[in-house]
Amino acid sequence: MTDMTPLPVSTPITAETAPPVLDLRGITVAYPRHDAPPQVVLDGIDLTIRGGEMVGLVGETGAGKTLLARAILGNIPGDGRLTGGTLAYRGQDITRIAEDDSPVRPGRDIALIVSNPRRELNPVLTVGDQITNVIRHHLGLPKDKAEARALAMLKAVAIPDPERRMKAWPHELSGGMAQRVVIAIALACTPELVISDDATSALDVTVQLQVLEMLQALVREQGVAGLFITRDIAITAHFSDRLVILYRGEVVEEAPRDAFFDRPQHPYSILLLAAFAHSEEMRARWTAEPLPAGVKPACRFADRCVRRQDRCLTERPALRETAPGRRVRCHFPVEG
Ligand code: SF4
Repeated sequence: MTDMTPLPVSTPITAETAPPVLDLRGITVAYPRHDAPPQVVLDGIDLTIRGGEMVGLVGETGAGKTLLARAILGNIPGDGRLTGGTLAYRGQDITRIAEDDSPVRPGRDIALIVSNPRRELNPVLTVGDQITNVIRHHLGLPKDKAEARALAMLKAVAIPDPERRMKAWPHELSGGMAQRVVIAIALACTPELVISDDATSALDVTVQLQVLEMLQALVREQGVAGLFITRDIAITAHFSDRLVILYRGEVVEEAPRDAFFDRPQHPYSILLLAAFAHSEEMRARWTAEPLPAGVKPACRFADRCVRRQDRCLTERPALRETAPGRRVRCHFPVEG
């Protein structure tokens, strides 16, 4: 480590003392439709992430998790548009800054790790060259120092026999090994925010836990902020400090991890926990009869909610604070 730019491992930065790395306020994304108003797919999302903390963003397929990650990176797919809200990075409002002038350098300040590592790796470059190239591009280090740093990153992500793996080709790696290499590339330039978008779902359980433990340790030690996107709420029980629950483009609950698992307040959160507990009885108890065809309730969860009342059909619930650090979007949250 003496012949290279040191990794910024120092006193761990706690969530309480660090300034927000990312602060989203009211982020709204819509897609135009022919002969109809734009379809709003993310609706007023608030999200704050500090250095050294892992935030678990949980929701089912189609809830808008990946789209939110793309919006953070300024890369909304298709003809979707950011139609409302602000996005602040390190306290600077970057919502309207053009890509060329943005202070955020994707891959340098914000790293995205996705679920298919093999697609991320260049098949015609060795592992060592891929990491080295990224380091040279973003940090401008000379080749020998970049290679030393690349090797240090392979050691940091616990790749066995890292000197030999530097010379390996992507097709020679197992799935878990390839995912570690992708994480090494993502963290090699010490980004301030790491977004893991369902990054470990394709791995077997043992490897998944190893990779997540390693990712969590690196987030803690380097004081970067982690946004951990997943459909699997069980994983967040181990690897998140705070949970944000997304349902059909809205945040419906936000809470510190322990408070959430002790006492979830939104009926949808309870359904997620029923799946977590593999409790068919709990799931049945918290699943409602569907609403009659044609009824368009104001609360997006009303058609599945056992607690719905007339008010839920006519008045959209606001996301409101129920305790310090806890917010829930429900007229009749679960108490106690
Ligand atoms: S607002 Fe009503 S329908 Fe919506 S989640 Fe709360 S109780 Fe259920």
